[in-house]
Amino acid sequence: MQIFENIKSLQIFLSEQRQKNRSVGFVPTMGALHSGHLSLLKQAKNENDLAICSVYVNPTQFNNTDDLEKYPRNLNLDKNLLENVNCDVLFCPTNEEMYPYERANGMAMSFGRLDQVLEGKFRPGHFSGVGLVLSKLFHIVQADKAYFGQKDLQQCSVVQKLVDELFFDTQLVVVPTVREDNGLALSSRNERLSSEGKKLAANLYQALQKVSDALQRGKAPEQARQEGVDSLSKYSEIELEYLEVVDKRNFMPPTDATPQVEVAVCTAAYVEGVRLIDNILVFS
Ligand code: AMP
Repeated sequence: MQIFENIKSLQIFLSEQRQKNRSVGFVPTMGALHSGHLSLLKQAKNENDLAICSVYVNPTQFNNTDDLEKYPRNLNLDKNLLENVNCDVLFCPTNEEMYPYERANGMAMSFGRLDQVLEGKFRPGHFSGVGLVLSKLFHIVQADKAYFGQKDLQQCSVVQKLVDELFFDTQLVVVPTVREDNGLALSSRNERLSSEGKKLAANLYQALQKVSDALQRGKAPEQARQEGVDSLSKYSEIELEYLEVVDKRNFMPPTDATPQVEVAVCTAAYVEGVRLIDNILVFS
């Protein structure tokens, strides 16, 4: 695996690859890699001549400095895991490389309605930072395809908007969420949970399933949502931020949850002070 910290050298390498007509699949990550990230990489590797992974904890997408400081970082372990899935290129830039100017004067991006709901609402500025760093990375890498997890469903819509608005010649591929046996969605943040915390956190997935079952039994979205909220209320250690049923196309409340409309049940909650998110799609 080739490792680059420097943008220019990566660009020279990638342009040589493009001249040889080699297709490029790109997986942007913040590191502390797990099987969820690796499933994106395996798919990138299967569908392209070259798989490239970026590991960069992007400061501009954190609206909470404590969260940024505590974000797990294991670059040496990440390198081994990437070698194991035959990743071709690792890009792990420094902050100085990615933001070589006074950050306070940095630009911002907005994503309309997506900024007003769920992650957009509860993490002000988060999608601006995501959009900014992905714009930089997409320009640098110029991938044929970029792989993102359904785990961050709203982020996938943000990325699609970014690609459409800025005419990136990169196709977005969404990969299903990888879970523990008990249903807990894999996340780098799970490293900060105790084993008790991980068991507790699996109830988030159970709650999403309760909502999904209720919707499939014909319950109205608000009633179905309430069943999920009630199922979590007995765990005082789970601090629910939101649990919502939304239309997958726009993240707004569905007007009619019929089998024709694909809805997403999305949640965010704190367990042991760690913010976790998850979602499932219904009627898909
Ligand atoms: P992150 O490092 O958390 O920014 O994630 C990098 C990419 O991996 C994003 O596209 C995530 O949606 C994806 N991802 C994170 N967790 C999972 C998971 N459990 N299953 C599938 N993809 C995931």
